[in-house]
Amino acid sequence: MVKLLLHVCCAPCATYVVQELKPPLAYFYNPNIHPKEEYLLRLSEFRRYASITGLEFIEGPYDTENWFNVIRGYENEPEGGKRCEICYRERLEKAALIAKEKGYTHIATTLTIGPTKKASVINEIGEKIAEVYGLKFISGDFKKRDGFKISCELSKQFNLYRQKYCGCLFSKR
Ligand code: SF4
Repeated sequence: MVKLLLHVCCAPCATYVVQELKPPLAYFYNPNIHPKEEYLLRLSEFRRYASITGLEFIEGPYDTENWFNVIRGYENEPEGGKRCEICYRERLEKAALIAKEKGYTHIATTLTIGPTKKASVINEIGEKIAEVYGLKFISGDFKKRDGFKISCELSKQFNLYRQKYCGCLFSKR
């Protein structure tokens, strides 16, 4: 039986992926988001979306100190480079840990819906992490088959705030 935990990066990205995968549980874990006001805004929008749709979710810790530690040395990488790989790994690893602890069998992420996100990189990282934890990763490229376009339409429908940068201090600059 498939018991899926979906890692969620933000409400607009979740809309389409939740519709596609119908996860029983989502995990909002994004210590990369900077500054804290922006994090709280994205979290509150996701909370609102989850409450409208009846989606159960867990809020992960906003452990920014750890995040800045793990990406140290890669601050000046371009978006999509090594820093992003570490950022994906960090978030997916935590999702896998929670999934394992709670008896879930599969993990997935909303991350590939971003138009500039390389699905092949995210899927490879997700598959490796899932294997380590004895889970399965649901690979995909959710921006395809109009996924991104549909997520924009759904976001409008739910009147969701859509951010103008990926999340971290470096992407904001
Ligand atoms: S640009 Fe986005 S994916 Fe890359 S490190 Fe920053 S927040 Fe993470």
